[in-house]
Amino acid sequence: MVIVLKPHASKQRIEELVYEIENEGLTVERVVGSDFTILGLVGDTSTINIDRMKVNEIVHKVMRIQEPFKRANRLFHPKSSVIKVGDREFGGGKIGVIAGPCSVESEEQIVTIAKKVKAAGATFLRGGAFKPRTSPYSFQGLGYEGLELLRIAREETGLPIVSEILSENMVDRFVRDVDIIQVGARNMQNFMLLKELGKTRNPILLKRGLSATIEEWLMSAEYIMSEGNTNIILCERGIRTFEKYTRNTLDISAVPAIKRMSHLPVIVDPSHATGMGWMVMPMARAAVAADADGIMIEVHNDPEHALSDGNQSITPEEFNELMNSLRIISGAVGRRI
Ligand code: PEP
Ligand code: MN
Repeated sequence: MVIVLKPHASKQRIEELVYEIENEGLTVERVVGSDFTILGLVGDTSTINIDRMKVNEIVHKVMRIQEPFKRANRLFHPKSSVIKVGDREFGGGKIGVIAGPCSVESEEQIVTIAKKVKAAGATFLRGGAFKPRTSPYSFQGLGYEGLELLRIAREETGLPIVSEILSENMVDRFVRDVDIIQVGARNMQNFMLLKELGKTRNPILLKRGLSATIEEWLMSAEYIMSEGNTNIILCERGIRTFEKYTRNTLDISAVPAIKRMSHLPVIVDPSHATGMGWMVMPMARAAVAADADGIMIEVHNDPEHALSDGNQSITPEEFNELMNSLRIISGAVGRRI
């Protein structure tokens, strides 16, 4: 339930109302706007007498939130959230660009790619240290050594780093070493992990599950938010459909859907969505044209010999070409890149 208060409601009357609601065992989240205040009620609101609430002299309007996600709901927070990562952000006027290899392979590899993607205009460096591979016999990543190499690449380039976490026991280390903690598609419903990440204040990149509906994806965001961490960036990375030509089916329509349903920023990963390097450019362009708040692109200096996902990786030169076209497209939708 959302209660929109009248402008200029006095502080004391607001406190009295909040006290009354909290006495019913509910949690009240306040969103203070420039000319309105919203109280978001979380919990079992069936005990709230809506009619009585509506006649309260400081109440403008009362709305029930039908959807199961509350804190992630745009009704709860009408203004789009801007997620800050140091001096950069997602959800504002500038489109965030995360680029880098699927996996961190060596210091030379990650530093070389970091420098190249930075020169082309990337604002974040990605690299998997722990890889959730379909086969246990495939390259599993360098582990904590990979995080160490990412740290070196960050020092060399100034690019904040994005890397995927696999389990709860990694949280402390990731909080310390990683700027944006990525939750991969396979872990989107690892609720224990989501709750632990909810206790941190790190920005979380929450990828859409392989077969998750938009609502299930937002419920995963809700798990993180319910523990207090509202710094969430959603990432559409393709879903499983009957189509086998592409690795997944990129659901571009998820971008406007998320923007309507939620205040959280949403970015697109065309690399995992398509699985083919030659499709990454057109799909990244489509994502920016559809008003995505960012993109995540796998870039490798030697895709043929990449230890994972070489097929869908583009070269730094192709990435540079992509960035040039995205400068034009972002301008057409009122953004900068
Ligand atoms: C990744 O980004 O490295 C990755 C494994 O992606 P996803 O979780 O979307 O498959
Ligand atoms: Mn990959």
